[in-house]
Amino acid sequence: MRKGSKHTVESLARMKGVNKGNTNRRGVKLSLATRRKLSLSHMGHKLSKKAKSILLYWSIGDKNSKWKGDKVGYRALHSWIRRKLGDPKECVYCGKQQPFDVRKIICWANISHRYLRDLNDWIALCMSCNFQYDLGKINIDHIISSSIAHERH
Ligand SMILES: [Zn+2]
Repeated sequence: MRKGSKHTVESLARMKGVNKGNTNRRGVKLSLATRRKLSLSHMGHKLSKKAKSILLYWSIGDKNSKWKGDKVGYRALHSWIRRKLGDPKECVYCGKQQPFDVRKIICWANISHRYLRDLNDWIALCMSCNFQYDLGKINIDHIISSSIAHERH
């Protein structure tokens, strides 16, 4: 299980409330888990056992209705963060740039995994670093403080 990914009842309710009227676009785009799988296979990463179990966890989450509110809330939060901070341009960890084609590889990653509506809780990471971060393999603490100072004056 992913560390810290459980929401409190309160935050789930808040997320659902935020996203009213936006629930029927589900399934139009590739699911997050599918996109991660695709991007990982494109990059030729060998998946560790732990990585595989996390992917499995994500794909189960897609099918399990219990997680739908969660997913929709996550998407609503992402559009909120993009409205506030714009599209992320480059990965603050490895410096990879957002390509000019439609496929976005740099995303706003949630630092605390608590999906706070707090601009300081989000950081631009490429999918690869985001994945490593979710696994706890990279430490971005030192970047967080400097990037907050740099990007938010
Ligand atoms: Zn990166």
